[in-house]
Amino acid sequence: MSSRSIDPRSELVFDIHELGRRAGAMKELTVDVPAPDGIGNDVIGVPTGSPVHLELQFEAVVEGVLVTCDADVQLAGECARCLTEIRSNTRIDSQELFLFPGKEPDDEEANRVEGDLIDLEPVLRDAVVLDLPFIPLCRDDCAGLCPECGADLNSDPEHGHAEKIDPRWADLASWSTDNES
Ligand SMILES: [Zn+2]
Ligand SMILES: [Zn+2]
Repeated sequence: MSSRSIDPRSELVFDIHELGRRAGAMKELTVDVPAPDGIGNDVIGVPTGSPVHLELQFEAVVEGVLVTCDADVQLAGECARCLTEIRSNTRIDSQELFLFPGKEPDDEEANRVEGDLIDLEPVLRDAVVLDLPFIPLCRDDCAGLCPECGADLNSDPEHGHAEKIDPRWADLASWSTDNES
C-alpha cells in the first residue's frame, strides 16, 4: 500500500497542506464522491459511481494525521436465499492513522501521508468490505426458493407440490409402459 503512488486527481485523495503539522490542528470536511469500482465481493458491493457521502475529520497528531471517516454508501447485491435484488444503504465509520514520511519507516503496512496527500480509497475499500454481510439476505427471515421448482416462497408461503413422484418410481413407471407396448 505504501509503495502505491497516489493519484492526485482521485476524488478520494485529500490535500492536508493547510492542516499543517502542528499536533492538535483539525480540519473537517463533508464531501460527496462517486464510488470507485470494485468495492465489495461477488454477492454484494457498492455500485461503481454511486454517491458516497463522506464526513471527514483530519487531526494532526505527533506521528501523522488521524482521519475519522464516516461514510454513507449504497449497497447492491443479491439475496443468498431467494436471489432477489438487494438495495440498501449503510454507514461505515472508520478511523485510520496516516504516518508522516519518515515515521516508523519499517512498518510497510502503515498508511502514509505522501507529500501533502492522503489517499482514502484503500481505507474506504477495506472498511466497506469488512462491514459487508457474509451471507446477504433480503430480510432476516427470507423463506428462500422452493427446492423443487424454484418458486419464491416469500410471495407464496402455502406453496407445495401435490404427490411428489419419487424419481425411482418414475423410472419404473416408464419402464413398465415401454414394455406393454
Ligand atoms: Zn431473500
Ligand atoms: Zn415448488
